[in-house]
Amino acid sequence: MVKENLLIVENRIEEACKRRGRDRSEVTLIAVSKTKPADMIREAYQSGIRDFGENKVQEICDKYEQLPDDIRWHMIGHLQRNKVKQVIDKAVLIHSVDSVRLAEQIEEEAAKKGICVDILLEVNVADEESKFGFRLEETEQAIRDISVFPHISIKGLMTIAPFVENSEQNRPVFKELNQFYVDMQRKNIDNVNMNMLSMGMTGDYEIAIEEGATLVRVGTGIFGTRYKIGENEV
Ligand SMILES: *Cc1c(COP(=O)(O)O)cnc(C)c1O
Repeated sequence: MVKENLLIVENRIEEACKRRGRDRSEVTLIAVSKTKPADMIREAYQSGIRDFGENKVQEICDKYEQLPDDIRWHMIGHLQRNKVKQVIDKAVLIHSVDSVRLAEQIEEEAAKKGICVDILLEVNVADEESKFGFRLEETEQAIRDISVFPHISIKGLMTIAPFVENSEQNRPVFKELNQFYVDMQRKNIDNVNMNMLSMGMTGDYEIAIEEGATLVRVGTGIFGTRYKIGENEV
């Protein structure tokens, strides 16, 4: 099933690229494997996927041990400061930096390990109360504040668009973040070299690609529905 789903997703990504005259190589598909077992991840791996997204530190650590070394793990969920230490040398990219304090913690732990950590700043474009992330108006200042940290490299921006019935409703959100991203690139802030825009999930990745996404995070469309444990969607 994973293999078949991947063919469908791949085809849709190619079509979305074509519609905007983009090269397929400009977009990386991240298979969001949170809550899914190692066997399903192996199936995606066998189809050629190397980028996987997880939203819990413990889960990345467990899967990191069990699965092939050349997998690139992406941390896409809210990150607590006390878990930074465990994840920074396992994830290739942290998409979900949502406060300067969190960045400070990453800086401190990265310095101890002598590594440089690639991050994206999460932006709450639609200003939803239930969501983490910087408000768009505060993002430039956050970029400037974080850019001075020697063990962090800001690679771009990430957003989780609102849950909507019709994915077209999210087009303005993606457009707005892309506009801001281009503005930030033009400002040439010291130590900031932004070339990644992480936006689009199962419901709206084609639209996100049309609006400039370079990383799309697709879970359900590849691995099927996630089951609910208790009241919380996991
Ligand atoms: C779960 C998750 C996804 C994938 O969602 P789907 O709708 O299943 O594709 C993408 N991004 C983030 C941040 C997530 O937590």
